[in-house]
Amino acid sequence: MITKLTRSPSVAAAILREGGVVAFPTETVYGLGANALDARSVRAIFRAKGRPRDNPLIVHVPSAEFVGQVAQRIPASARKLMEHFFPGPLTVIVPRHPGVPQEVTAGLDTVGVRCPRHHVAQEFLQACGCPVAAPSANRSGRPSPTTWQMALAELDGRIPCILKGGRAEIGLESTVVDCTGSRPVVLREGAVHLEQLRAVVPSVRTAAGGERHGPARSPGLKYRHYAPRPRVILVDGPRDVPVSEAARAAYIGIEARGFRRRPLRVKRCRAVSDYAKGLFSFFHQCERDGVGTIFCQRVPREGLGQALMDRLHRAAEPARTRKAERSF
Ligand code: AMP
Ligand code: MG
Repeated sequence: MITKLTRSPSVAAAILREGGVVAFPTETVYGLGANALDARSVRAIFRAKGRPRDNPLIVHVPSAEFVGQVAQRIPASARKLMEHFFPGPLTVIVPRHPGVPQEVTAGLDTVGVRCPRHHVAQEFLQACGCPVAAPSANRSGRPSPTTWQMALAELDGRIPCILKGGRAEIGLESTVVDCTGSRPVVLREGAVHLEQLRAVVPSVRTAAGGERHGPARSPGLKYRHYAPRPRVILVDGPRDVPVSEAARAAYIGIEARGFRRRPLRVKRCRAVSDYAKGLFSFFHQCERDGVGTIFCQRVPREGLGQALMDRLHRAAEPARTRKAERSF
């Protein structure tokens, strides 16, 4: 299959409407979209990504009015969060409308819905005229693409179209909040952080260990995410990079002075937001350069730092687990 590159939302939307899957830009990361109401198209997403069938997809809509097409009802907490954060980097989990194929929700009776604010995503979703199911546009288990070039590197020849846009402004996936229980639960941290959610719905709580990245019944949490090929190690700062490893190592962080020996590649980020925005593309460059180990500086768990630390921890999990789940 030849992967067409286009900057035209209407050209990309025509391919989607004919049943094709299309990678498209959003403010969080690039998504891999298909018509959410067409089971066959949705199955093509799982094939292209090599994604386990039991990992649910998020449905993207151009505005809050479309949510009724995929949700059976909208709980009051979801409605409030949508009013405040749509369009934006927030996904709400609501009861699934019977018209949404099981493939989208991995058999769950709930569905995740998001309305991106990126203007190209908006134009694309409007031109599609249907809800668009879309996970991140990477091969399963890998870091999410934040540029069209990364999406191409992941999926060239496996999908019919990539809608080109600029670099994703946030660089980390959306915040996911399950609104189907008595109290809303944050299943995945993202750019909309806990304090902001609580300012709108005070009862929002964080997930207990086992619920993170999906409730116990959500399979999302079974799988490794965000892992590049090089080993990832979290450090407190430049001094923690071992001299013996520097020659084949890379480093990313807010502080980039005081190395005992300078690593092969160093990325200094001015703020946590730059760190989040640049993290996955840095991983990608390090893979290309054949870096052995990426040392990542920890950041305080405040604001966007919560989501960034979550992704760093997941990327740094032991390689053993990573290998086992890759082969899925
Ligand atoms: P991705 O789009 O690749 O970032 O992955 C979407 C993630 O959203 C899944 O892995 C789940 O963790 C979460 N998710 C999507 N739909 C649901 C749902 N109905 N219930 C719980 N979690 C969900
Ligand atoms: Mg993903």
